Amino acid sequence: MSKPRVAIFDFADCEGCELQIANLEEEILDLITIVDVVSFREVMKEHSDDYDIAIIEGSIMRPMDEERLRFIRSRAKILVALGACATIGGVNTLRNQWTPDEVKKEVYGSAKLNETLFDVGPAKAINEVVPVDYYIHGCPIDLDEFKAVVTSLALGKKPEIPTYPVCVECTKNENVCLYELGKFCLGPITRAGCKAICPTHNSPCDGCRGILKKPETECVKDLVARYDLTYEELAQRCTVFNSGKEACK
Ligand code: SF4
Ligand code: SF4
Ligand code: SF4
Repeated sequence: MSKPRVAIFDFADCEGCELQIANLEEEILDLITIVDVVSFREVMKEHSDDYDIAIIEGSIMRPMDEERLRFIRSRAKILVALGACATIGGVNTLRNQWTPDEVKKEVYGSAKLNETLFDVGPAKAINEVVPVDYYIHGCPIDLDEFKAVVTSLALGKKPEIPTYPVCVECTKNENVCLYELGKFCLGPITRAGCKAICPTHNSPCDGCRGILKKPETECVKDLVARYDLTYEELAQRCTVFNSGKEACK
């Protein structure tokens, strides 16, 4: 059986998720036994438009980005959104509270800008432009999850992505809940899969893996009741990564 051909592309982002993949170093050798990487600008100069799986990092800002993304979608059998910028818009959506002209004026002042390159609109997640088959969440992504998703796809299986909140992993790690220490944390309504890395290091969850559809878990119910909060109040404070977003898929 031939190996699936994989291409990795980036749009508006910091390239941190691609860097994570590059950081796999020797483990990349395990991955290339099951897939052929045919395009990955950050680590190789070769490029091919013949691929089965397209992995997309970054948000979509400009009409020219939408056009490029639609082309990639038309070539790929499977399209995967990689990292918060791609899955939910991520930190790029912070700028959506201002108009593109206000943002340009603030950043570039009165400088004359190339109209095509700077024809920016609001920052969009990938699924606001084209259908997305699978999501690898996080800012940056969790490498174990990345390897598991790529391995599943290479074997023709559906990747399993958690549908429970970060609190479940946090409790498993036997952490003291940050609410008990007087801090605010979005773990109760944020998709797990990062091993609760932030609260485990005493830093509140900011929701980089996206807001769960209204969860019915005991963890959320318990927290909401104990700290006099509602799900809606928590969701309203998802401003860093989920600005203006509905619950993610
Ligand atoms: S999700 Fe975070 S780490 Fe990944 S590209 Fe976007 S800003 Fe960078
Ligand atoms: S609210 Fe935050 S600190 Fe508390 S259990 Fe959930 S993830 Fe952990
Ligand atoms: S704890 Fe929250 S902010 Fe931190 S990596 Fe996990 S989902 Fe993202």
